[in-house]
Order: sequence, then structure tokens, then C-alpha cells
Amino acid sequence: MKIIDAHSHIDHITHNFQEDVVGTICCATKESEWGVLVELMKHDKNIYGAFGVHPWFVDSVVDDFDKRLEDLLKTNSKYMVGEIGLDKYKPNMEKQIEVFQKQFDVAIRLKRTMFLHCVGAWDKILHILKQYKQSELPIIVMHDFNANDEIIEKLLQYKNIFFSVGKNALYDRFRRIDKISNDRILVETDGDKNIVLKNLVNKISKNESDIYNNTLKVLNNGQVA
Ligand SMILES: [Zn+2]
Repeated sequence: MKIIDAHSHIDHITHNFQEDVVGTICCATKESEWGVLVELMKHDKNIYGAFGVHPWFVDSVVDDFDKRLEDLLKTNSKYMVGEIGLDKYKPNMEKQIEVFQKQFDVAIRLKRTMFLHCVGAWDKILHILKQYKQSELPIIVMHDFNANDEIIEKLLQYKNIFFSVGKNALYDRFRRIDKISNDRILVETDGDKNIVLKNLVNKISKNESDIYNNTLKVLNNGQVA
């Protein structure tokens, strides 16, 4: 088995300690982590970096953070955008939307894959997606995906959206992902030490090599590597 963790963080480089894991997509969640991630990547070519401000940390943003994000992304064409998004259970939704939209626009301008966190805000995310032509959108990965069939159907209309399955799949409240075809599924730890990716792949009964190839596609902006 060969797996790439589709979503983790700088304190949890999954391939260093999990069997069968050969790479880790690592999301920086605030500007103070961006440089740390750049350093980590210098020493480990199996770390794939995404840079952004997480909706939980919008209070950390300083003026022109989006400009600095864009400048950083321009230094390396492999850099991606994340973790960004919206979370209904965290304060300051207006600010969250503003910070999210700015980063979303950077990802679109530079055509970089982005990793989205969405909790209870599918209406808002779908509304934002509608403002763009499908051909304008880069690859979008919905992280720790969990939504109802109606949302899944709407998202599936976007050919470049992928669904990353993580800790939600371990809970009973997880909704079924049968509707999502094998060519759109990824797996992730989200930095959670209790998630063993090998077991997660078995649990969701999706083909392991499909999942691996999907991750390569995401890393190559939709191109088969
Ligand atoms: Zn995360």
C-alpha cells in the first residue's frame, strides 16, 4: 500500500511514523507558520506545502497578508493554498469570509490547488463557487469531508473538486460517501495521532491505488503525474 496524507499540519509529518505513508500534504494555518513550513520542506522532499490562514485564526491576520501570501506562492510553483475556509462554530463570520475570499482569489489567480475547511457553511461556500466559471477554478480539496447528499450532488457538478476523508469517517454521524466516485477521494489525518491511514483506507472500502493516484493529481494541479 502507498498513501499520501492529503491533509496534515506542521507538527505531524505523517510519513515519518506511519507505515505505508510516503508523503504528507502539510497545511500552514497562520502566517507565523509559513516560514516554518518552508524550512521543513527544504529538508524533506516528501512534504507538500499549502499556505494560508485557517478560519479559526482570522484574528491573527495583519494588513496585506494576502499580498505576502501571493508573493510567497510565486517563489515556488508547487506551493498550494490552505488551510482556508469557513466555520460556523467559530466567531466572526464576516471576517472569516473576508479572509477566505482574499485567499481564494489568490489561489485562482495563481491557479494553485487549495484545501478547504468547511463546517456548517456550505451555503456560503457554494455561493462563492457560483461566482466563478468552472474553468477558472483550480483543484479544490474539501478537507475532512462530511456533508449530506444534497450538498454532495452540488459539489460533484464541479469536476475539479476532490473529497478528503478523515476523522469524520470514524464516527457514526459520518454520512455515506458512496455517491462520490473513486477518482475523487483522498484520505487524511488532519494531524490527528489516532488516525492510521492504512486502517482508514480499509474502512471506507475505496481502492488504495485510486486514492494514491488522486493525491498525485491534486499535487499536479489536475494532471496525471
Ligand atoms: Zn487541518
